[in-house]
Amino acid sequence: MAGKAGGLKGVALIGGGANSSVAGALHFFQDPATGPHFNPHNKPHGAPFDDERHVGDLGNIAANKDGVAEVFIRDLQISLSGPHSILGRAVVVHADPDDLGRGGHELSKSTGNAGARVGCGIIGIQSSV
Ligand SMILES: [Zn+2]
Repeated sequence: MAGKAGGLKGVALIGGGANSSVAGALHFFQDPATGPHFNPHNKPHGAPFDDERHVGDLGNIAANKDGVAEVFIRDLQISLSGPHSILGRAVVVHADPDDLGRGGHELSKSTGNAGARVGCGIIGIQSSV
């Protein structure tokens, strides 16, 4: 990930093994262990391109035929410093597609009805290697 004026860019490869098919949603969470989506402004769940969304809402990902999702993100709300910093926060891959707050399900406005948490990590800073 690289932070700069005008947004934060991130690149990731996410895979679940030879027989997996990664397809679902990518969200940052308020707390590294559990809790709701990262939402410092108390807004409803939405799409990455929405003004009204959780800061941690990054939308959907999909795997290629080899079970690997190549993720390229440029986002104007998340950052590596300040009140929108994602450092120390959990990033989670969900099992199901995010309905981006538009699905009409009881969970649409809180989680996008994205299903189980199937993978996660914590955003941190790595010293040079
Ligand atoms: Zn959300």
